[in-house]
Amino acid sequence: MISVSETIELLKSNIATLGTEKRPLIDALGHVLSADVLAKVNVPSFDNSAMDGYAICFENGNNEYQVAHQIQAGDTNTYYLKANEAARIYTGAPIPSNANAVIQQELVSTSESLISFDTGKIKLGMNIRTVGSQCLQNQLIASKGVFIHSAILGLLASAGIFEVDVFKKPVVSVIITGNELQKPSHELEFGQIYNSNEFALVGLLKSLGITQIKTYQVIDELTEVEKTIQTALSESDFLILTGGVSVGDYDFVKLALEKNQVNTLLYKVKQKPGKPLFVGKKHDQWVFALPGNPAAVITCFNQYVKPSLLAICGVQNSFEPLAVLPLKNSFKKSQGLTFFVKGRFDYQGVEILKGQESFNLLSFNVANCIVKIEENTEILEMGSLVEVYPLD
Ligand code: AMP
Ligand code: MG
Repeated sequence: MISVSETIELLKSNIATLGTEKRPLIDALGHVLSADVLAKVNVPSFDNSAMDGYAICFENGNNEYQVAHQIQAGDTNTYYLKANEAARIYTGAPIPSNANAVIQQELVSTSESLISFDTGKIKLGMNIRTVGSQCLQNQLIASKGVFIHSAILGLLASAGIFEVDVFKKPVVSVIITGNELQKPSHELEFGQIYNSNEFALVGLLKSLGITQIKTYQVIDELTEVEKTIQTALSESDFLILTGGVSVGDYDFVKLALEKNQVNTLLYKVKQKPGKPLFVGKKHDQWVFALPGNPAAVITCFNQYVKPSLLAICGVQNSFEPLAVLPLKNSFKKSQGLTFFVKGRFDYQGVEILKGQESFNLLSFNVANCIVKIEENTEILEMGSLVEVYPLD
């Protein structure tokens, strides 16, 4: 058995990205940039108005101007103001080439085509967004390693980027083992339970932005498990199994993985839940065999599978906790195992919830995180600081 921190170090030191690909910008959401991005153009590419108002070439003391032009956003003409001329102008419209201020319409009195205002309100350059004030052509606007969320799509599009280099995402297979499993749409016979792990795992993968997911279900028979693993490995970069990895007579997963030339990276971790966790590799392919207990599946996914998948996708620091927060209640455990417990955090702290058994999913109803309690800790008083890992 190895410790949680050794497990994380082993995972971190073995993980590599899968290579890169070009993607149209609109299909790059949720990917990580594999190369720096430089602006294609100056943004903005022309001096333009930040307000609806009047563009003027302000000369000391003059507070009256004749409106000689109307300039709308999208106007592609260039304008020049003669002495005492102003242009009616709207937000985003190009300012006349010699204008040095835009005075917002709220500060202006109009009479016919004459405008007047209090000259004390004028500051040269006011309400003009100058060329390149966001970024200049060829300026670095997003670095390799940046996670592309929606606002990054906006930033890149604003600078004329329509295609990006990103890290590839893995194809993930999920194998569910267990003779006792039934679909939620069917009646349970005596001795059966509903297959909840498949739903939880597919949901967890989708939440991470993994789109290529294949699922398999197999009975507890060595040859069947072996065959299913062989098929799954032939079609995916990353394989997750649930159940059958413990020490029971019908737990065939580890043997079936060995028969498929999957090499053990680690087996059995000093933790609760999820002690029988297995991680292996076949060349560049990853295999995570999670114990069957549903809460252990979600916890092991959150603590190990999620950060590993994110790191493969190019995300940095994926194993770090979200925060270190004070406990809102006290907690007792025995020494020797790291505990991962369901919790609910807010900005003030985190509460450890009731119903921590590894088969019990009910507290996920209110849980929004997993709390890590260190191996050697026995008693945690209220107010003690703990690491918090968000769910989904
Ligand atoms: P195992 O690791 O196969 O011994 O399974 C441990 C426990 O998890 C047993 O009580 C199983 O019935 C349960 N279990 C295994 N697979 C699933 C699943 N897909 N959905 C819900 N419970 C499961
Ligand atoms: Mg089983």
